[in-house]
Amino acid sequence: FLANMSHEIRTPMNGISGFLQLLSQTKLNEKQEKYISIIEASMSNLLKIIHDILDFSKIEDGKMQLSLIEINPKRDFAKALELFSIDAQNKNILYCINIDAKINTCLLADNLRITQVLSNLVSNSIKFTPENGSIDVNIILTEETDRTQTLSITIVDTGIGIPKDRQKKIFDVFSQVDASTTRKFGGTGLGLSISASLVKMLGSNLQLNSEEGKGSTFFFDLTLEKCLKTQVFEDGFPLNKDQNHPSRKDLSSLRVLVAEDYEMNAILLNEILIKYKISATFVLNGKEAVEILKKETF
Ligand code: ADP
Repeated sequence: FLANMSHEIRTPMNGISGFLQLLSQTKLNEKQEKYISIIEASMSNLLKIIHDILDFSKIEDGKMQLSLIEINPKRDFAKALELFSIDAQNKNILYCINIDAKINTCLLADNLRITQVLSNLVSNSIKFTPENGSIDVNIILTEETDRTQTLSITIVDTGIGIPKDRQKKIFDVFSQVDASTTRKFGGTGLGLSISASLVKMLGSNLQLNSEEGKGSTFFFDLTLEKCLKTQVFEDGFPLNKDQNHPSRKDLSSLRVLVAEDYEMNAILLNEILIKYKISATFVLNGKEAVEILKKETF
C-alpha cells in the first residue's frame, strides 16, 4: 500500500518544499526567517521519514530493484560523502574521506543505493558522535580479478558506541539503543534496517564493531564488475561534451514544455521558470506532451 502511495505522498510534498524555498527567497523579517528555517528543518525530517518508510515497504514487498550503471566510484562516492562535511564541521568533528586511488574509474554499480547506505551510516556517525570527535570513511581496494574489483568500506567513529547487548538487534526495524534516542537525536530506527537490506541486495553483509563510550565501526565489502568499454571517464570527471552549458547563458529564448498533472507543482515550476524569464507551455500529461510535440518544437 505504502509503496503504491509513494507518488501520491511525494507529489504534494514537492509543492510544499518548493514554495517554501521560493518563500525563503523573498524579503522576510527576522521572525519569519526563523519560522521558515524551522519549517524547512521539519520538512526535511518528514521527507526523510517518508523516504525511509517507502524504501522499507518496497524492500518488504520485494519491489526494490538494483539498477546497475557505469559509475566512477572515486568521484561519485566522494560527492555523496562530501555533502556531510558541513554537518561534521558544525560539530567540530574531524571528518576524513579516504578513497583508494587504485579503484577503477569505471565500475558497474547501483550508485543510488550504495550512496544511500553510505549517507545513512555517515549521518548516523555524525549524529551519535559528540563534539570534537572524529569520523573516518575508508574505501579500499582489497581484491581484484580480470572482471571485478572488491572494495572494503568502513565508517569509523569515536561516538557514543552501542552496548554489546543491543548490537544484534540494532539492524532490526524500529530498533534504537534506548527509548530516549528519538527524543534526543530524532530518527525512526528504520535507517540501519534499510541499509542492511540494501547491502544484502548488493551481495554483501553490513557488520558492526562497537564499544560503548568509545565508538562504532560499520563495515561491508562490495564486489563490483569492471566496465566493458575502455575508459568512459577522464581524470575522474565525465567528459564534458557540451562546453556551452545553458546555465551560463541567457535562457529567455528557450521554449520549454512542462507536463505536470498536479496543479500546485505546475504553479511552482512556472514560478521557477519565470525567474529565468522563461514562459513555458504547460500540458497535463505525457500524451498531451507528445501531441503538442508533433506540432511545435521545444
Ligand atoms: P535512527 O538513526 O533513525 O534512530 P537507525 O536505524 O539509523 O535509526 O539507527 C538505529 C539506532 O542505532 C540509533 O537510534 C542508535 O541508537 C544506533 N546507532 C546507529 N548508528 C550509530 C552510531 N554510529 N553510533 C552509535 N549508535 C548508533
